[in-house]
Amino acid sequence: MDLFEHQARELFEEHGILVPRAEVTDSPKEAREIARRLGGRVVVKAQVKTGGRGKAGGVKLAADPAATELTARRILGMDIKGHPVGKVMLAQPVDIEREFYISYVLDRAAGRFLAIASAEGGMEIEDVAATRPEAVARIPVDPAEGVTAAKAAHIAESAGLPPQTVDVLVRLWQVLVREDAVLVEVNPLVRTAQGQILALDGKVTLDDNARFRHARREEDGTCHDDPLEAAAASKGLNYVKLDGEVGIIGNGAGLVMSTLDVVAGCGARPANFLDIGGGASAQIMADGLSVILSDPAVKSVFVNVFGGITACDAVADGIVRALETVQLTKPLVVRLDGNNAARGRAILDERDHPLVQQATTMDGAARRAADLANAA
Ligand code: GDP
Ligand code: MN
Repeated sequence: MDLFEHQARELFEEHGILVPRAEVTDSPKEAREIARRLGGRVVVKAQVKTGGRGKAGGVKLAADPAATELTARRILGMDIKGHPVGKVMLAQPVDIEREFYISYVLDRAAGRFLAIASAEGGMEIEDVAATRPEAVARIPVDPAEGVTAAKAAHIAESAGLPPQTVDVLVRLWQVLVREDAVLVEVNPLVRTAQGQILALDGKVTLDDNARFRHARREEDGTCHDDPLEAAAASKGLNYVKLDGEVGIIGNGAGLVMSTLDVVAGCGARPANFLDIGGGASAQIMADGLSVILSDPAVKSVFVNVFGGITACDAVADGIVRALETVQLTKPLVVRLDGNNAARGRAILDERDHPLVQQATTMDGAARRAADLANAA
């Protein structure tokens, strides 16, 4: 999961990396108060999980508290590359002398991390990397060895960074390891006119598989970007929100993934991934259906079950009982196959719900669900 800049900033601060004083708000009036507290002049920064905010007009200097309120109001109304701005961060301005770029990123193919660093950080770093790759150092990092002071010195030297950045390079590695991140990036890392090294912007991607090691994050709600994902997680469901219109429920991750592909092959887009696993109890079915049906983007739902240890009649029972607790508002296409498929289909036939249809093949069911979504 990606963090917002203000969350990354907090992690940096906890690990001893210098950052500007800053506060976050969703209210222009409060922004004015914060500016007053921070000394009047502030940088107003859109909090969105995408880069290039500066170029999009989402980072602006405000000269005083009144200007801060106006600027905050304007930025809070913006949409940056499809991301509506819900919050702004107000940061104490910094007198920049030089801008650098540093990051650590997981290199899955190589089974290592990669340190990427450049003495030419700032908003044009992508252009620098494209036109003058020699200005960007790429140094492999062995995860077992990590970034020691000696390694950091090597990275700094290769990138042409001043020796004062060595300490930040070591601390940034500690952020990555201790917070279980797969990406940490500071752009720009700056040297101020006073000679301090400060992280002015931060991007952190946490490893979702390590979530269980960070109980604190679950509590403060920073863990799930999407309210539906948060609701599903609280019910113990294996759910991922996607962009499309066809809700998907299946048993087993492999089957669900192929179901996504088949639905896409039928010209519709899956709205989610939801694996109910082996236990297709009425409760799990009801929980899964209620999460999917509360997604306004969903136009039809496809339940694709291959009965193995969980027999299809148990799944059908689960669906029937789920229909007692969940108000079905969109068409449901069910494909049951495998163990006890005939009994399962008979149970659903008997229930005879007007919005529930059955199909005997995965392809046929996917086509039906896709057509229903596209026609809606
Ligand atoms: P991004 O465009 O999304 O990467 O947003 P950044 O936080 O990196 O800000 C973009 C640019 O704004 C930076 O490269 C800096 O040049 C500038 N900037 C950000 N914060 C400050 C600040 O406190 N003082 C000054 N002078 N410039 C800043
Ligand atoms: Mn930046």
